[in-house]
Order: sequence, then structure tokens, then C-alpha cells
Amino acid sequence: MPDIIHLLSDHIANQIAAGEVIQRPASAVKELMENAIDAGATEIQLVIKDAGKELIQVIDNGKGMSTTDARMSFERHATSKIRDINDLFKIRTMGFRGEALASVAAVAQVEMKTCLHDSEIGTHIIIEGTEVKLQEACATPAGTNIMLKNLFFNVPARRHFLKSNTTEFRHIVDEFTRIALAHPHITFRLWHNGAEQYNLAAGNLKTRIVNLLGTSYEKNLVPAKEQTDLLNIYGFIGKPTAATRTRGMQFFFINNRFIRNAYLHHAVTAAYEGLIEKEAFPFYVLFLEVDPARVDVNVHPTKQEVKFEDDRLMYAYLNAAVKHALARFNIAPSLDFTLNPEVQHLSSIQVPADDAQRTQTQNSYLFNAFSQKGQAHLIEPTDSLKHWKELYAIAQLPATDATLQTEQQPLHAEQPMAAANAGNNVLLVQGTMLLTTIKSGIMLIHIRRAQERIWYERLLEEWNNGTTASQQLLFPVSYELPPQDAPLLTNVLPELARIGFDIAPFGQHTFAVQGVPAALPAGEEKNVLDEVVEQLKNESNDAVGNRADKLLIHMARRLSRNRHAIQQPEGQQALIDELFACTQPEYTPDGKKVFTLLRKEELDGMLG
Ligand code: ADP
Ligand code: MG
Repeated sequence: MPDIIHLLSDHIANQIAAGEVIQRPASAVKELMENAIDAGATEIQLVIKDAGKELIQVIDNGKGMSTTDARMSFERHATSKIRDINDLFKIRTMGFRGEALASVAAVAQVEMKTCLHDSEIGTHIIIEGTEVKLQEACATPAGTNIMLKNLFFNVPARRHFLKSNTTEFRHIVDEFTRIALAHPHITFRLWHNGAEQYNLAAGNLKTRIVNLLGTSYEKNLVPAKEQTDLLNIYGFIGKPTAATRTRGMQFFFINNRFIRNAYLHHAVTAAYEGLIEKEAFPFYVLFLEVDPARVDVNVHPTKQEVKFEDDRLMYAYLNAAVKHALARFNIAPSLDFTLNPEVQHLSSIQVPADDAQRTQTQNSYLFNAFSQKGQAHLIEPTDSLKHWKELYAIAQLPATDATLQTEQQPLHAEQPMAAANAGNNVLLVQGTMLLTTIKSGIMLIHIRRAQERIWYERLLEEWNNGTTASQQLLFPVSYELPPQDAPLLTNVLPELARIGFDIAPFGQHTFAVQGVPAALPAGEEKNVLDEVVEQLKNESNDAVGNRADKLLIHMARRLSRNRHAIQQPEGQQALIDELFACTQPEYTPDGKKVFTLLRKEELDGMLG
């Protein structure tokens, strides 16, 4: 029984969000390529002429269609992919509405040749503006070859409003890129006006990213992979250095469907906080796999939106997955993750899972992180750490010796240690900055920010190890809050205890501060607590998970007021040493630049 396409009943058709699917050449490209993928093709060729205005052709080696199906496929609501309403909840195909071919046939001259794999003879159909002009038997390879010519030939207004070829072709490449990223095991080729633009051999995701987006990504990709009962996350994120000032290199796929989602995007960028500048966009290609029953793909077909249950949980998981990936590759130090209680009580986290699923997740990182003590800070030194060590080594080396070194032969830490003792090359500038010579020029370090970074990482380590030192006050200090703010502080007493604050409620809205973090300068306790309360007042729901981290940032800032230490040359060198022993010396925990390099060429340039 080779015929598989049927018409959807009105009843179900009415429950599917209808879409005017074809707005521009790129939307036709998307529909045709998705059909080829749904047909199980392993090779897909896309041929474009005149940015799709003249020709859009997709040739696949998928399963092909019978003669009846070939004709049927152009009817509205004709599909082989769903039958009844329940199927809507288990969709695994890209299409399911049965509208795409009907829509393209209405606005283009369509020619299709298709042949089933076990069939000798194929079908050739020509349709123009829904009218069948030709249908005959033909010899054609197994699979489907479909051509759309003169898109919008019968809708002049539409055709008129198409953008320039450059713009329309860019949209086509965008669609092609998304589809090719989501299917690295399929071979794709793209031609434009007779010239081959892409030839992507089947391979793994990493190769696909590099082939599509450029070899520069190769060394900047960090794998991310987490498995939970609710969802699987996998893919690659970019190292902070791969972040860009413009968007475009951010890709989310839910069940292999490209989506845009500002909320999930935020979950990723929030994990980069302190690693990249505020305005920068991190690179990522992330796949989320969810039980289709939990995702509503039935929103407007062109909006690339997906609605899913429990987006807060997804946010938490995704954010943790990215943090974990960065931590594992030693790009960022990190807190033990805790899932905030509100999220823990979401019904989805309590969903029954079968035994196999349970064992699988119990071995996963997220499970361990969220249900036991997190392991994220137990990270092995990797490349990025080495990178900072080298920069640090160079910073210690008097410039003259350093000139002997080349970029390709980084210094070993012990080597410059000796050299550093030979002479001091650190200068205090205006009491707020340190200037030091390095091989390629000079480095300017912002002292307070460097201290913030150092303190933050120290506190983080203490927090993770549960070893924060607290110092009991001889005379407890009383701390009073307006009645409405007092509960906020009460809520975070456990977290404050973990960073060394021993605070007891004392009356209605007064607290007794009995112990403070050991390193906190006397009299600063009130300032820190004020900041904490201010933070809690403005805390958004999403930020709850980052609360502890924010506390540490405030503390680090308070602890970084020590001007005295850097008056002495030893103190200055110690600061540089400590800074470059940090996992991420380049930025403060809230993302400000700690140091900047002025290269020799730039210096030469300044002097003309
Ligand atoms: P949908 O993909 O939502 O089912 P379409 O209008 O895109 O709707 O396609 C209608 C039907 O035509 C599909 O369900 C499928 O059975 C068949 N079809 C379309 N394109 C191809 C193809 N390239 N190879 C095999 N079958 C196809
Ligand atoms: Mg389709």
C-alpha cells in the first residue's frame, strides 16, 4: 500500500493553527527542505536562482511518493504525518499541517518529479496557481525533485515587495543554515546562480558547525551535554572570546526545530555573566529534547515560536547546563548549583519516570547538582587555565627578556618566576591602576576591579567548600530594617550564615549581628547588609537562582576597599600574581573589564 497521504478532517484541520506559510523565498525553501527531511533523505540539494525569485529547487533521495500521493500532496490539509488530534502531541516530523505544498502551488509554477524506492516508474507533475497542467509517468531517480519557478508570479504586489536579492538570499542562507545545523548526518549542498555555495558532507555536529560557520569556531567550541527526566540538552557553546557584539550566532532547537526564545536566550547569557561584556552575545548551538507532549508546536507556523510547559524549569536547567559546561572547561568558576525551592515544587520535577530513565538521570550531572551537593566546582585544569598562566607569566617578565619569546612558544611559569625577581616592572598610576610591561606592549590593571575578582573567587571557593571563616563580634551590632523589608533578610539568613554572617532575629524587625566574615573591615557589616536588602528588594523571579552568587559579588566588592595593600611593590606584584591565578581574570564578577592591553603597534601608532 504505497499511498499514505490523506485529507485531514475539518474537525482536526480547525484545531491546527493555520498559517499563510509562504511570505518570501526563504519560507518556501524551509518548507521544501523540511519535507525532504521528513521523507528520510540522506542527501539534499538546494538550487537557487535569483535569490529564489526565479527558481527554488530541492532534490532529495528520500522515500518519494506514489502517483496518487504526488497529486494528493498539493491539496490543502493533505498530509501523511498526522491522522487524529492525539497525533498532535507526539509529532516527530517537521511538518504536519499538510498546507505547505498547497500554499506554494497557489503562488508559483511548480514542477515535481518523484519516485518511490521500489518503483521503476516515477511521476511528473506540473501545477500552476493550483491548476494541474500536466501529470505523466516519467523516469526519475528514487526520491523527490521539486522546482518552484517565478514565485508570486500571480501575486504582483507580493513580488514587488520582495527585498533585494542580497537580502532575500541571506534569508535563504539563514534557513539553510538552521536546517543543516539540526541535521549534521545529512549531506547538504547549496547552489546560487550556478555557483556552489555550500557542500556539507554528513558528519557530526562539531564538523557541521565549523563547515557552516567558519573554521575560526573550531577552537572556540565547548561541548554542553546534560540529561534529565524532563529534557536532554546537548550542543556547543562558544568560549567567551567567541562572543560578538551582534546577534546571529545563537541557535536553539527544540526537538530539532529552530526556535527563537528570548527567555531561553537569557538563561544562556546569564550563565556568561562576568565572562563577557554586558552588550555581547555568546555563541551557542543548543539542542533541547523534550517529550513532544510537553511542547506545543502548534503555534503560528512562521513565528518560530514554541510554547512549552514549565519554561521556568527549562530556564533553570539550561542555565545550569551552560554554567556547568563553562565550569568543566575551566572558563568560569562556579557555585554549587541549587535549584530554588519554587522551581523544585513545579509538578514537572515530580513527574513519574520509569526505572531506566531514573538510573540514567541519577548518573547525570544535573541530578547530582540539584539533588545532592553540587560537583561543579570540582574541575580539572584545562587549556583556558594554561592560557591565563601564560599571560600572567609574561606580565611578570621584564620586557627586555620577554622579547626573546615568540607568541608560539609560551613561557613556562617557573621560568619567569626567576626573571621577575630580577627587577620590578610594576608602576602605580594615580593610586588606582597598575601599569606593567609585557612582551607585546603594556598592560593596565584596574586595582579595585582586580581585587573584586580575586575576592570573588576566594569567596566562591570557601562557599563551595563550606569553609568561610566567621569572626564573632565582641559587641553584637544591632541592625534595624523597615517592617516590610525585614522578612526579606530573614529569608536569606542561611545563605548569609554560609558566607560568615552570624545574624539572629531580635524583636520584630531588628537583627543582632553577632559574627561577620573574617576579612570584612570593621564597620562594613551594615553596608553589606544594606546592599543585600537592596538586591532582594529588586530581585526578579529569575534571579532567585543567582542569589547566592550576587551575595558573593557584594561581599567581594566590600572587601576590595583595601588601598593600603597596594602601596608597596610587593603588594602590587602579589595582586598581579593573584589576579592571574584566577580562573577568569579578565572581568569582574559583574562583567567589567579588569585589565587592558596596549600593544606595541598601538603605542607606535600613538606616537605617529
Ligand atoms: P506536511 O509536510 O505538513 O505533511 P506538505 O504540504 O508539506 O504537508 O506535504 C504534504 C505531504 O506530501 C506530506 O505529508 C508528505 O507525505 C508528502 N511530501 C511532501 N514533500 C515530500 C518529499 N520531498 N518526499 C516525500 N513526500 C513528500
Ligand atoms: Mg511539509
